[in-house]
Amino acid sequence: MPAPRLILLGPPGAGKGTQAKRLAERWNWRHIATGDLFRDAVRKESPLGKQVKPILEAGGLVSNELVVGLVRETLAEEIGADRGIIFDGFPRTLPQAIALDEFLMQYNQSITTVVLINTGDDIVVHRVAQRRSCEDCGAIFNLMHKPPARPGRCDACGGKLYQRADDREATVRARQRKYWSETAPLIEFYRTRGLLTEIPGDLPLDVVTASVERAVSGRR
Ligand code: AMP
Repeated sequence: MPAPRLILLGPPGAGKGTQAKRLAERWNWRHIATGDLFRDAVRKESPLGKQVKPILEAGGLVSNELVVGLVRETLAEEIGADRGIIFDGFPRTLPQAIALDEFLMQYNQSITTVVLINTGDDIVVHRVAQRRSCEDCGAIFNLMHKPPARPGRCDACGGKLYQRADDREATVRARQRKYWSETAPLIEFYRTRGLLTEIPGDLPLDVVTASVERAVSGRR
């Protein structure tokens, strides 16, 4: 498969992170997840972490300047390589989408595919309440749909599983409101350019992965 510049779009908890990790592993694509970068910074208590912690806990959005700066830094190391890139949780606002376009344009590149993974808000609240992540490698489990073999431990690396602080119901609802007001306009933005494929997120994991792969290969 050719090296894509793929954006996974969709409400919080639709399964973007899970799909991005599977695809990145299978195709050796670079997975850029701004949420993971921020959580990492919070865990390390770095200056960035201290700055964004209250925003993450409230389910708000980090400022465009900060996010775009972080993505630029991360991308600068990757962009020249002939390796696919998956954007997960970025862009989340129109200014971020425009900044990403401008950045890619400097390297004669552009977004190749955008996949919208869609799920109803109430389903997500329930799913997210069951979600557990590995402290060490970031692998994602679901107590109902994808439980770890050993309770509380990661199948991949044996790390401890934890519940994200922003996966509590009130925070999830706040994140959904942000999604509808700030991120949903990106759907039309990419649809009008013919880049968008829509996939229901409540299908089995493998079916969603296969649909994303089809979208990537069919649109280049
Ligand atoms: P996620 O893991 O993608 O759900 O992101 C977790 C949290 O990180 C979000 O609720 C935001 O507070 C913050 N965040 C992640 N990506 C972005 C972004 N592109 N723009 C603004 N805030 C972000």
